[in-house]
Amino acid sequence: MKARIISIANQKGGVGKTTTAINLGAALAMRGHRVLLVDLDPQGNASTGLGVSKSVRGQSTYDLILGEASPLDIALETSVEHLWIIPATMDLSSADTELMNSARRVMHLRKALRLRDAPYDYILVDCPPSLNLLTLNAFVASDTVLVPLQAEFFALEGLSQLLLTVREVRSTANADLRLEGIVLTMFDRRNNLCLQVEEDARQNLGDLVFETKIPRNVRLSEAPSYAMPVLNYDPTSRGAIAYRSLASELINKNQMVEGLDV
Ligand code: ADP
Ligand code: MG
Repeated sequence: MKARIISIANQKGGVGKTTTAINLGAALAMRGHRVLLVDLDPQGNASTGLGVSKSVRGQSTYDLILGEASPLDIALETSVEHLWIIPATMDLSSADTELMNSARRVMHLRKALRLRDAPYDYILVDCPPSLNLLTLNAFVASDTVLVPLQAEFFALEGLSQLLLTVREVRSTANADLRLEGIVLTMFDRRNNLCLQVEEDARQNLGDLVFETKIPRNVRLSEAPSYAMPVLNYDPTSRGAIAYRSLASELINKNQMVEGLDV
């Protein structure tokens, strides 16, 4: 079976990419799917949040992207059954410049992740907060892009730039790239601006926007310091409920369509 490869991307920092990668990954794993999380941000927040301390990060995404390791050799187990991670280290930030000198510079991650018989159902790539060469590598490697969108002023403008990049990748290195969808994060229904952004997003983007919204929930921000997904840290929290619902929605959607056109 072929893994479905999903980039979790938004060039803005602090919008919930890593939180989504960890908790959506955990929610899918808890339903019995085999999930590999690839930490593609040199900050390594997904790695830390899943309890991979800096000292045990041997081989990392850096080795993966430079073709010096296979995912199967370097994926680490996490505290969640069926969830593995390839951690990131700071040297990943220099991979960007090293890739510049390679003729097939956007193809590296695709080559590493598109294994014929990968023992995974989903591969989630936690992208850095930039539309740089690392993110382009993720898009070229992926089947779909999932965009966490924080409901705030200018959110939709940043989104159009991101969608433009997706279209560029489709017309060059990966014609099959689709959008998995847009998920509203840190949502506060008492905040009028949030409601306005939701209305605009649903009006302009229709089915691309997931029904599930991730609420602002302090348990979600506490969980990483306990090195676990919120689904373990506080399974009944609103954050945990929301990410389980996102996972169900994603699975159901995947059964109907192969991702949506931009
Ligand atoms: P990104 O990966 O896009 O930079 P993160 O997922 O790291 O964003 O989130 C940024 C910060 O906001 C983190 O401290 C995280 O714990 C917190 N956070 C993310 N989503 C939520 C949420 N729904 N409710 C409360 N805090 C959140
Ligand atoms: Mg992040």
